[in-house]
Amino acid sequence: MNSAALRDALEGLDLRPPDAYARDRSPFSVRPALAVAARDGKEVRAVLRAAAEHDVPVTARAGGSGVAGQCLGEGAILDTSPLQGVEPDGEDVWCGVGETLDAVNRALGPSGRVVGPDVTAADMACVGGLVATNACGSRSLRYGRFADAVREVRGAWAGGDSLSLAPGEVPDRLAGALPAVRDGLGAELDAAWPSQPRAFGGYRLEAFARAGDALSLVPGSEGTLCVLTRVRLATVPSARRRSLLEVRCASLRAALDRAPACVAAGASAVEVLDHLLLDAAGLSSGRDGALLLVEFLDDDGGPTRLRAALPGDDAVLLSEPHAKRMWALRRSALALVAARGAAPVAVFEDPAVAPERAGVFAEDLLAALARRGFADVVVYGHAGAGCLHVRPLCDPFDPGAGPRLLDALPEVAELVAAHGGALTGEHGWGLARSHLAPAALGRALYHRCEQVKRAWDPRGLLNPGRIVGGRDPRGAWALTPA
Ligand SMILES: Cc1cc2nc3c(=O)[nH]c(=O)nc-3n(C[C@H](O)[C@H](O)[C@H](O)COP(=O)(O)OP(=O)(O)OC[C@H]3O[C@@H](n4cnc5c(N)ncnc54)[C@H](O)[C@@H]3O)c2cc1C
Repeated sequence: MNSAALRDALEGLDLRPPDAYARDRSPFSVRPALAVAARDGKEVRAVLRAAAEHDVPVTARAGGSGVAGQCLGEGAILDTSPLQGVEPDGEDVWCGVGETLDAVNRALGPSGRVVGPDVTAADMACVGGLVATNACGSRSLRYGRFADAVREVRGAWAGGDSLSLAPGEVPDRLAGALPAVRDGLGAELDAAWPSQPRAFGGYRLEAFARAGDALSLVPGSEGTLCVLTRVRLATVPSARRRSLLEVRCASLRAALDRAPACVAAGASAVEVLDHLLLDAAGLSSGRDGALLLVEFLDDDGGPTRLRAALPGDDAVLLSEPHAKRMWALRRSALALVAARGAAPVAVFEDPAVAPERAGVFAEDLLAALARRGFADVVVYGHAGAGCLHVRPLCDPFDPGAGPRLLDALPEVAELVAAHGGALTGEHGWGLARSHLAPAALGRALYHRCEQVKRAWDPRGLLNPGRIVGGRDPRGAWALTPA
């Protein structure tokens, strides 16, 4: 890696202070050798060409809101946030990868349409990162994840050649390798991969096994296969009516056990908040109580069906202002807890199991963490999809907290696997978890992921150590989230 020569080669481009790119929203810190912001696709290609020439790995970055350290790297950071532009195209929309989701939806406003998949960080997360992490949020039950919205992508391959991918296409440079990756893959997935809504296995092997094209591998690839510049996304009609109900439950287990019935009643979102969050928000939880928020979109019959599905429970339909307050509380959950002085740390913050198993899984997980000394662990998130946000509360000044959390990670991974789940159901592998991918995916599927990476990026120049080739992230621990 000759980063000094690369810096010289990039003279005239928008070089940025590397320290400004050492953090994202994860508890890790990595100082890159250099950082450069690209103003257009031509500059993206020029950076990648020069980086390949000088053997410097490149990590693309967009909003920097990732919580697993995906956009941190030791080589060159390629900031794609200046790549803006929102152009509606029929019922689709072409977006520059530097546009936040909020900005895209604001621009779509007059058309009465929105991008379907939603994320809590819609004001920070940009299209490049949303696609590269295959993001999704509370309404994944209705709208799926970003992979479901991606129609076409433009960008560059490692090495700087232009890339353009539409459904069904296998570009010449992948034509030799991809059929071999696909051969026998379906059977391997059937044998080794959980069937549940948020299974997120390395690269999107399950989608690739079905479609066989290159595009299906791009969402969720964490900047390891290509750098994106523009993306065509599908849009959906904006909801005209939203009904939100709250269901108070005696415990987290009771709340999670009720979630599948809410999904069966046709809910577009089923979110859970535990007693630590309710207490932090000043809402009495009845000690160990928990709350389900159940939303129906454009569905006047939803509340009635929900009450029928939960006989004996009090499912209260909230007024519009009350519903807004509860969504705001859900969005600011972590800030509320953090304001009390503890750091809700993300290391195993998005495991996913079949929704029917979420209650028992949560109990087992909390017991395992308590045995390791983590007594206060915030649990909230997407109960209807079986994806739980699990954040131990740590003392930000305790230097031992990071190592203890990372020590616990393999046990958490084993527990998730024992419940037939996926270690990450939303945020991705990143720096935090890629080292566990061989164990979490199993040898056969991990090998398929290695084949995918070699086919796209034979020299390993794009975001090395993410998804495949991960190393223990202990050396990058920085405890408090930025
Ligand atoms: C408060 C908060 C709430 C959140 N809520 C959610 C949520 O509801 N759902 C959810 O899924 N996530 C959530 N996240 C996590 C985060 O917002 C998502 O992972 C998001 O998709 C990251 O987008 P970004 O633009 O910030 O990407 P970055 O953090 O900049 O990068 C993330 C990954 O994308 C790659 N990448 C970025 N740009 C490009 C590009 N141009 N080409 C190729 N690869 C690229 C990077 O290399 C990296 O691997 C939340 C985070 C926070 C802090």
